[in-house]
Amino acid sequence: MIIAIDGPSASGKGTIARKLASHFNLPYLDTGLLYRWVALHLKNKNYAPDDAAAAANAAIFLRENIKEMGFDDPELRSHAISQPSSVVAAMPEVRRELVELQQQFATQPGGAVLDGRDIGTVIAPQAKIKLFITASAEKRAERRFKELQNKGQTATYEAVLKDLQARDARDESRTTAPSKIAADAVLLDTSDLNVDEAFAAALSIVKENR
Ligand code: C5P
Repeated sequence: MIIAIDGPSASGKGTIARKLASHFNLPYLDTGLLYRWVALHLKNKNYAPDDAAAAANAAIFLRENIKEMGFDDPELRSHAISQPSSVVAAMPEVRRELVELQQQFATQPGGAVLDGRDIGTVIAPQAKIKLFITASAEKRAERRFKELQNKGQTATYEAVLKDLQARDARDESRTTAPSKIAADAVLLDTSDLNVDEAFAAALSIVKENR
């Protein structure tokens, strides 16, 4: 069983994906971390976030060493890496390097849960279970703002909202694998749902489509 979950940032897709993976005892891949890793690598090596050649090399390195990668650096999920990650994610040469390893993860025996922007459209279009999780930009910004505050990171609500909107626009308008709802995905709007309600709604969608 492949569960493909897409949607914009702070829609609740990561939480739902993790909970579904644990409920069905399936391996889980947060594919946003791959693009975040490339962006952080560029930053650490003092490359500009839009240096396509350096980003492609970083993606090749990531692909070749994926088994040894820990993805536990807290900076990966930081506010500062969010924008640059959507810049590198718009580069076809970066996406090309990272497709196969995501497809291998998706097709492992027994199945898997993956979340991202192009899981239902590009990585696992064959998945029987596809969810597109969304929420209003204001609700998403509120959630992300609270999350950053809890982590002790400084950002204003307005800056977080602007950042989300800029990332949404870049993710939706890029030419390679733009973020969009797959024709056969079920849309779940979590704007007015708490975590338990959102998970319950997602679980019933999975059970109906199994
Ligand atoms: O999901 P998350 O916000 O961590 O992803 C960071 C960035 O990586 C997104 O803004 C998006 O540009 C990119 N991404 C993508 N395709 C995916 C997952 C993430 O383009 N499958």
